[in-house]
Amino acid sequence: MELRICHLYPEVLNLYGDRGNILCMTRRLEVRGISCSVESVGIGDNPDLTQYDLFFIGGGQDFEQEVLLDDLRGGKGDSIRSAVRDGRTFLCICGGYQMMGHYYQTHDGVRCEFLGAADLYTVGGDRRMIGNYAYALGEESGGSTVVGFENHSGRTYLGEGVKPLGKVLKGFGNNGEDGTEGVRFNNLFGTYSHGPVLPKNPQFADHILKTALTQRYGSAVLEPLDDTMEMLSHYRVLEHYLRLSRS
Ligand code: GLN
Repeated sequence: MELRICHLYPEVLNLYGDRGNILCMTRRLEVRGISCSVESVGIGDNPDLTQYDLFFIGGGQDFEQEVLLDDLRGGKGDSIRSAVRDGRTFLCICGGYQMMGHYYQTHDGVRCEFLGAADLYTVGGDRRMIGNYAYALGEESGGSTVVGFENHSGRTYLGEGVKPLGKVLKGFGNNGEDGTEGVRFNNLFGTYSHGPVLPKNPQFADHILKTALTQRYGSAVLEPLDDTMEMLSHYRVLEHYLRLSRS
């Protein structure tokens, strides 16, 4: 088995070590003997996106998101929409997550027309939602608890056609109002979690890898790894910083 990973816009969208998610995924594949390749696709690059199994997009501030608009209109946007429609696996963080929605209306009134690959939109608010937070993933995303770090002023609202990635246990999540966090649509996982999120949430990491492998091969079994260190950091955030107990 092998997995071909595409890192979209690494030169622009990479906050709080989001790139660590790629390192985590490649490592978890390699120790299981599953080969993988990672290719960076940035502004001006236009490779055939149908060759990739898993796409990663990190976070970025309003300015970086605006910078990407022209590039998305130049054909890449259509290819990304098709890949989501075809059930390719995507992990999109914060600004990258917002970009998959219809639009982002910034707090100072700039409207960024985004991809509309998933039924959601984002509106900039006057206070930033910052801090460690936790949420319970929906059953279709594995059902485990995720801890992460959020920092956004955008409030995201989900449309009819999509489900939240999870339910907020502590923190703000999508908008600080409706208790939802992130989005799950086809095999697109969108979340506000920086950190990077996957190293301290190994069950979530494996769920994403399994989704991508299943999409490519029809089924996939991932042998368990020794996640003692990973779970120590997971529980440290959960119990010490968030004062939540283990479920
Ligand atoms: N610019 C967006 C916001 O503040 C995204 C920020 C981010 O990716 N951390 O809402």
